[in-house]
Amino acid sequence: MNAFPHLTAPLDLGYIKLPNRAIMGSMHTGFEYLDRHVERTARFYAERARGEAALIVTGGYSPNADGLFGPGGPELSRAEHVPEHRRIISAVHAEGGRIALQILHAGRYAKHKGLVGPSTLASPINPLQPRRMTAEDIERTIEDFAISTALAREAGYDGVEIMASEGYLINEFTAKRTNDRDDDWGGSLENRLRLPVEIMKRVRQRVGDDFLIIYRISSIDLVEGGLTGDEIVAQAKAVEAAGASILNQGIGWHEARIPTIAQKVPRAAWTFAARRLKDAVKIPVVASNRINTPALAEDVLASGTADLVSMARPWLADPHFMRKSRTGKSDEINVCIACNQACLDYIFSSRAASCLVNPVTGRELDFDAFPKPQKKKRVAVVGAGPAGLACATTAAERGHDVTLYEAAPSIGGQLNIARNIPGKEEFDETIRYFGRMIETRGVALKAGKAPEASDLAGQYDEVVVATGVRPRTLDIPGIEDPRCVSYIDILLGAVQAGRRVAIIGAGGIGFDVAEFLSGPSQKEAANVAHFLHEWGVDTGIAVPGALATPAEPEINRQIVMLQRKPGRMGRTLGLSTGWVLRITLAKRKVAQLTGVTYQKIDAEGLHILVGEEARVLPVDTIVVCAGQESERTLADKLVAAGTPPHVIGGADVAAELDAMRAIDQGVRLAYSF
Ligand code: FAD
Ligand code: NAP
Ligand code: SF4
Repeated sequence: MNAFPHLTAPLDLGYIKLPNRAIMGSMHTGFEYLDRHVERTARFYAERARGEAALIVTGGYSPNADGLFGPGGPELSRAEHVPEHRRIISAVHAEGGRIALQILHAGRYAKHKGLVGPSTLASPINPLQPRRMTAEDIERTIEDFAISTALAREAGYDGVEIMASEGYLINEFTAKRTNDRDDDWGGSLENRLRLPVEIMKRVRQRVGDDFLIIYRISSIDLVEGGLTGDEIVAQAKAVEAAGASILNQGIGWHEARIPTIAQKVPRAAWTFAARRLKDAVKIPVVASNRINTPALAEDVLASGTADLVSMARPWLADPHFMRKSRTGKSDEINVCIACNQACLDYIFSSRAASCLVNPVTGRELDFDAFPKPQKKKRVAVVGAGPAGLACATTAAERGHDVTLYEAAPSIGGQLNIARNIPGKEEFDETIRYFGRMIETRGVALKAGKAPEASDLAGQYDEVVVATGVRPRTLDIPGIEDPRCVSYIDILLGAVQAGRRVAIIGAGGIGFDVAEFLSGPSQKEAANVAHFLHEWGVDTGIAVPGALATPAEPEINRQIVMLQRKPGRMGRTLGLSTGWVLRITLAKRKVAQLTGVTYQKIDAEGLHILVGEEARVLPVDTIVVCAGQESERTLADKLVAAGTPPHVIGGADVAAELDAMRAIDQGVRLAYSF
């Protein structure tokens, strides 16, 4: 039986047939930071075509020099650009896939001196000031969109997507926030919509009726001075009339201060805005953002909210998402957990995108280059946290005979602790995936008992120790006081925190504990209505930008976070997500003290120095989140027994360890066997 009848249903537009309803949405990959970037891009997209993406939309290409993201950014504006696109397109077509070029003019988000916009108003996230476009500039830009589309068709693309959301140029023209013009291109709604309508008309006229033109519309702006719902609907109808084939949903400008795709955004939180479009137009509408499983996609489609779904990061996590969905293997999908750690955070730090749960992504050519194993080896992996799981299941996939030892009764390691933080329940998907891979790839799992060194020494061709970490213990006088507890006890519910809490250590775990103790339950946080209310989203989109007054948080605890280092807290938080956590904790009045020296704990509370100033914090609970140390007892015994093991993950290096490094190290080691 087909579990996903709506998701797997084809869509026939006459000139193009999509085999199912799951598009791979546009993503900037940053592959240009790597060698052989055209070959890499071709290999990357071809894998997703093989995995049955209905349509792949490329990262954004500018139609002209003004619209580039930055110097040397992706561009399709001249015939000389066409050959490299052909290499990518033919790789996708060879796998039976379809690919559309996204045309994106960066407007005032561009990071080069020639940036332009409807006005000279600079963006709060870009220090550069745009030049106000003249009427001639606007006419030339419309023509450049048409030229780029014609070149895309000539190169062999199956369509284009005109990028008109996320606060880029077209969006800047539609919104009063950025458009203060009093000529034909500003003022009335009709004038503000003139640019997208003229682009759509010109592009359609240039390539004819039998070519796919998707319009990526900002379905909700989430900024002051953004559009109202009625204005967005008017835009949707206008571009439909001007020749758009499909409307794809964009959400929020990049400068919006409401999270749109982070882990804290509940799944499918923005589909209400897609529904408004669907009810307004006759052409197919695509829903997007935080849709990461086939079951969820099926629900969105079955409810009539949209005709297609666009997923971007889920195709990084699993290139074969739709092939597995279609063939009854959806339980084998490696689900995107919305962490942003190896995709957006990499891009924001000028690195090529990859994926925390699938480090092969974006590095396909490098993994292709590993030689095939010469013989089937007997491999023992000890520790079923992310490092050990990744190593064991990858080694088994490569044909080795693998035994995975785990001291705890079940797999997952620290992910079982992390999963209790609001949003991080997504880690359940990773644990489920690895569990399924253990079954399908025939890994022998021996859980519930730690092996002795003698069980391993001399018994295997390769022994891998992935025993992880243990929390650092502190030697502050009085630390044995029952008010002092580990983050593990708090997060696993073994201890209930009191009303006044001090958190020692403000790394990733300190922040997570502060969030856990200050906020609503995980269930409540995952509720879409709760999230939209908390962040102040007007779901009726009656006001410009859909900004309502954010809910006042309920404050049930006084929490203070402490750190020895001076300066701002949270420097190691994710680039794309740290701001969400900072805003959240500030709203909940979580205090932060840096430059702290811990002196003692006694009946009065926690005694500290802040700089030179002595203070006593009269707290009920002190949660120690002071980092971890490697668990290497077994590794040391194996060395002593003359069987030096491979040591990975936290057992190798505890500092700055995260699941991304653990999984990457596990996979790479398995490829070397
Ligand atoms: P572990 O996960 O520690 O796994 C080690 C395993 O070995 C355990 O299952 C243990 O039982 C087993 N073991 C130990 N000794 C033996 C033995 N002698 N024999 C057999 N088995 C043994 N990382 C991120 O990337 N993103 C996040 O958002 C994130 N959030 C986190 C939030 C919290 C609250 C916590 C606690 C961690 C978070 N992490 C996050 C960190 C991430 O969980 C760790 O970096 C990762 O789990 C380390 O993987 P590992 O396999 O090296 O070790
Ligand atoms: P961490 O990031 O290394 O932070 C440890 C904290 O403890 C620091 O604030 C440190 O600050 C303090 N500390 C260290 N030694 C101390 C000592 N002897 N006495 C008192 N304080 C001490 O470690 P973590 O927070 O335990 O996180 C572990 C790993 O999990 C991290 O590497 C992180 O990447 C990962 N993680 C990631 C996420 C994520 O969302 N990506 C979330 C959670 C965890 P001072 O030394 O200045 O006091
Ligand atoms: Fe998804 Fe995280 Fe992978 Fe990005 S790094 S694709 S958010 S799982």
